[in-house]
Parts: sequence; C-alpha cells; structure tokens
Amino acid sequence: MTSTVVTDIRTLVTNDPALGDGSPLGLVENAAVVLDGEHIAWVGPAADAPAADARYDAGGRAALPGYVDSHSHLLFGGDRTAEFNARMSGRPYTAGGIRTTVAATRESTDDELARNLRHFLDEACRQGTTTMETKSGYGLSPEQESRALRVAAEHTDEVTYMGAHVVAPEYADDPDGYVALVTGPMLDACAPYARWIDVFCEKGAFDGDQARAVLTAGKAKGLTPRIHANQLSHGPGVQLAVELGAASADHCTHLSDADVDALAAADDTVATLLPGCEFSTRAVYPDARRLLDAGATVALSTDCNPGSSFTSSMAFCVAVAVREMGMTPDEAVWSATAGGARALRRTDVGRLTPGALADLTLLDAPSHVHLAYRPGVPLTARVWHRGTPLAV
Ligand SMILES: [Zn+2]
Repeated sequence: MTSTVVTDIRTLVTNDPALGDGSPLGLVENAAVVLDGEHIAWVGPAADAPAADARYDAGGRAALPGYVDSHSHLLFGGDRTAEFNARMSGRPYTAGGIRTTVAATRESTDDELARNLRHFLDEACRQGTTTMETKSGYGLSPEQESRALRVAAEHTDEVTYMGAHVVAPEYADDPDGYVALVTGPMLDACAPYARWIDVFCEKGAFDGDQARAVLTAGKAKGLTPRIHANQLSHGPGVQLAVELGAASADHCTHLSDADVDALAAADDTVATLLPGCEFSTRAVYPDARRLLDAGATVALSTDCNPGSSFTSSMAFCVAVAVREMGMTPDEAVWSATAGGARALRRTDVGRLTPGALADLTLLDAPSHVHLAYRPGVPLTARVWHRGTPLAV
C-alpha cells in the first residue's frame, strides 16, 4: 500500500465543519490530503502535510469529495430518443414510456445489461461520481428483476429492488395481484442482491396502501425503504417515507406544508431532489429553499434513466439546483456529496476526513462555486476512486 499527498489545493471541501472554517462544507484553503491505500489518512493545511510515498501537485485547483449519486435506474435495455424528441418538439408520442424500456430490457442478455450498467457507472465516475446507487424496475417479473439485481450487485454496493416501478403489463387488470407478486415471490428472489427497496407512489403507479405493503414487506426481509414520493402530484408518499423510517423520499416536487414539516422533523429521512427530471420533462422544479429553510436534509441526485432524466452529471444537477431551486452553491455542493451519503446512510463517503474512503475529485477551477458559476463546462480534472487515480 502506498500513500500519496495531494498538495497545493486552493480550496478543499471536506464536509466536516470541525476540519475547516466551521461552515457545513468544512472549507480548508491552501490544503493537502494524504491518501493511504483506499482511505484518507490526513487532511489539513498544505504547510503541515506529513511525508508520503508520492506527491501530486494540484496546481491551485479545488478539490471535493466524489459525488454520491443516490438515485439512478441503470439496469435497462434500449433507448427513448424518439420519445424525448417528440416531447421537446411538442408532438404527441403514443409509444409506451416505461413499457418501451421494459420490453427492451427483457430482451437484453445479462452481458448486455452489465455492459450498459458499466458504461454509465464509468461515465459518471469520469465526471466525479464515485458512489452510485442503482435500481431494478424494468424487468417486472421475479426472474427479470432478480437477474438485473444480480448484475447490479457485481458493479455497485448500493442496489435497490424496485419491482414496484409500474404494474407489469401482464397484471394490467390485476394491480393487487401484482403487488402480491412484488411482496411475495419477486421479493424472495430479489432480496439477496439488494440493500434497499423502493416504490413509485403516484397516481397511475402505486397508491399509499400498496406502497405501504411493498415497503413493509421489504423491511421484513431486511431491506431498507426509499420511496419515489410526490413527484407528479400531491400524495401520501412523503408521509409514508417518514412514518416507515425510509432513508430517503425522492422527488418531493409537490409538497404540502405538513410534508415539509414531516421531512424537517425526520431524523433520518432525507429529501432527495432530482432536477434532471424536471429539466428533461419541462416540469416545475422542487423548491429546495423551502425544504432547507424548514430544516430538512436535502440531497441532489441525477435520477439517471432513459426516460425522464438521461444525465449522469452531478455537476449539471448542482448548477440547475442553484439556478432554479433556490440553493446556494455551497448548499448544492453539500447536497451532491454529503447529502447523497446521508440518503444512503453512509459515513465513509461524501466527506474528506481521516478514515473515509479516498474518493476525491479535482476541479479545473480554484473553487467549488465554479460548478454553478460555469454550467456545462467539463471541470473534472482528475478523480481518485478508492485511492486509485482515474484519467478523465
Ligand atoms: Zn427514479
């Protein structure tokens, strides 16, 4: 195991107030970080850095923890370019949305699913994302969902079973029969490969009672709930998330005052906002400012999926969150790193502190503020993933 000191960092985001200037980002100016194997060994002013086996000069760039992208749907086949093009061109599009992806996913081989997943994980990593959750939900049968999760578990630690994405076409006339499948044989087949269970609680998908049944069954099998909540309309999703101790309520676009209060009072349910989705569907953005002012914990994530948000760029989400959702640049960067870690209940990522994983991004900029200040510019200069440098 060799150690490397990364020095001459102009602005370092540690996400540990005690290490830096006392702000939530724990900023250290003119900093250094020592990586030892897969972990961070030391963080502080460059002038005080201990010796290491190797030295990397950051050249006055900014550094931050690798992004923690806590919500994506990367186990899919096919492509929905035509649907996006029609939506953005104001043309009606009658082919079937998620069902199009379900059909293409079912026809994909295991190798094709794995290659596709790997492609997007690598694409995200080159942009600074070093932890990425992903979900099933385009297979919708015990065999298809479990093989997708088996593939996912070979590539990421954060795997979510989402058989309750939409009702499978075979059960169109029997949604309760589908919920029985999702909470019975499908859950049995999928639980060994997953850490989390998720449900799309929305009109046209699963109602509050069905969502409760899905998440409760998952909990009994040792999975921790997360939930697609209040995306397209007001609904029971957020309240259910808080009541069941879900790690995260995702989307949170349409919230009542009671929903905001519940999220603010929750100890361990994060509000995860997914601006790529509203961007790609020309929808109204969630109000991050309202959640933050109430005291809720907010995470940002890409929701990378072929239908409603086909971006893997956390930097893009940071920029949109600042421009459209009332977040400050500091808040958005925190939410894309430490916030994502909170949404995944991880303390070893999303921060640069001794003992954390050596997941570090160098920006071609002197400050993390440039992520919002220079939207669309590829600022990722270098990424260390678990201590290994990655050419970008
Ligand atoms: Zn989603």
